Amino acid sequence: MVPVSTRSRRRKRILATAVSALACAALIGGCSRPISGTPTTLGGYSTTEVAGLPATNGPSGPKEDAPSSSLPVEGTDNGAMDKLARDAVADIDEFWTKTFPKAFPGKRFEPVKRLVSYDSGGPGLQLCGQNTAGVVNAFYCPPEDSIAWDRGTLLPELNNSFGPMAVVTVLAHEIGHAVQHRASTATSNDQVIVLEQQADCFTGAYFRHVAEGSSKYFQVSTGQGLNEVMGVLNFIRDAPGDADFRDGNAHGSAFDRVTAFQFGFSEGPQRCAKMDFNDVQRRTTLFQAWKPIQKENANLPVDQQSLDAVEKSLRTVFRDTGAEPPKIVAGLKPCGSQEATSPASYCPSTNTISLDMAALQKIGQPPSKNADSTGYGDFAAYAQVASRYALSVQKATGLPLDDEAAGLRTACMVGSWSGLLVEDPFGQRNPVGSLRIAPDDIDEGVSALLGEDSLIAANVNGDQVPVGFARVEAFRVGVQEGFAPCSTKYGA
Ligand SMILES: [Zn+2]
Repeated sequence: MVPVSTRSRRRKRILATAVSALACAALIGGCSRPISGTPTTLGGYSTTEVAGLPATNGPSGPKEDAPSSSLPVEGTDNGAMDKLARDAVADIDEFWTKTFPKAFPGKRFEPVKRLVSYDSGGPGLQLCGQNTAGVVNAFYCPPEDSIAWDRGTLLPELNNSFGPMAVVTVLAHEIGHAVQHRASTATSNDQVIVLEQQADCFTGAYFRHVAEGSSKYFQVSTGQGLNEVMGVLNFIRDAPGDADFRDGNAHGSAFDRVTAFQFGFSEGPQRCAKMDFNDVQRRTTLFQAWKPIQKENANLPVDQQSLDAVEKSLRTVFRDTGAEPPKIVAGLKPCGSQEATSPASYCPSTNTISLDMAALQKIGQPPSKNADSTGYGDFAAYAQVASRYALSVQKATGLPLDDEAAGLRTACMVGSWSGLLVEDPFGQRNPVGSLRIAPDDIDEGVSALLGEDSLIAANVNGDQVPVGFARVEAFRVGVQEGFAPCSTKYGA
């Protein structure tokens, strides 16, 4: 996050202020009027469901009574990783054989011709025009119609860090590339980001089949199970500075990748087929021109000065709701007989947000692979504050603050705030106020939402919405669609 305060940016800031009224009209659907106090639920939204499936926390991984696939794999050592990969390919093939003719009428799915296992630490094989020595990866090769995977490092690392469904996720993604070639939803001439978004989306479509209990080989719970799958997409995201769509190599930020997965899971392969350059350009974070921000050290410290900038930004973004801005004070305070929630607490009776600055500072540390690091980054820290601010907006409109839907509305409103801090925002909106964020800030939000210790999707008592998929979805809806759906889609 960065405050936009330098001289060179002043002109832009004034411009942004001048157009913010327009943005408000389009977004909030009625400037200077409070949001509707009688929210309705659209599309039968339920907090006990995940895209229409029951929220579950059962086991995830190979089924106990799963068959053993005998698909031929070149170069296999017949070890546990190759068995898992082979079974995954067999299962994903079965899914597409059944689903493909329905999704793409008049077409049939032929399984990938060649499967190859290699060890990136061993002697290299010549595959798809490259030598596999040291290639810690899995890939689909269109000219050879082959899928290859590194059983030596990549698969065991994924399996150890995220469990067996991580390996299935990566193979579903690679077969997703085979699907797009067979369905002609994209060609090798398309931007890499389009190909990657489609492959993540097809992965989501396959995982819905597993979550519905229709897979012979695997099971996945819609709670913790899908959290882990989305955690894998987060783990393999493009980190800031890693990739740039202008170089044609972007795979997507965590936000982009999880979005594509959720589209496939919720709406099926037809949604994936609609992902073209325009669709991807309109909604992915990596298409936004945030490079100037990325070049700076864009991690704001968690201190009073930055907190003031965040408070000002929240006041500006939520001004048009008509809600009285809450007071923000340092030092957690109980609320009557109610204990404070850490690291930020909202007290409705006094309309006050109290903060544990030390706890926020821990969350605000830049993320690191170090196991005892508790940091998610500055945005994740300030999003906790924004979440309590969102409760004050809900209170002002008479919405309940203590049900599960309050957690979803909160995540959505934090998302809507974030979407207005983007220099080149989604859906041609204009940025509001003088605070800006970058794609990695949004990814910090996704990481925190997939964790178990965040208030971003929590109600006034600090109870987080149990299902990660729903938490991330609500945040994404706010980022992409703005404030209006937060009280309609996630109505009480
Ligand atoms: Zn890919």
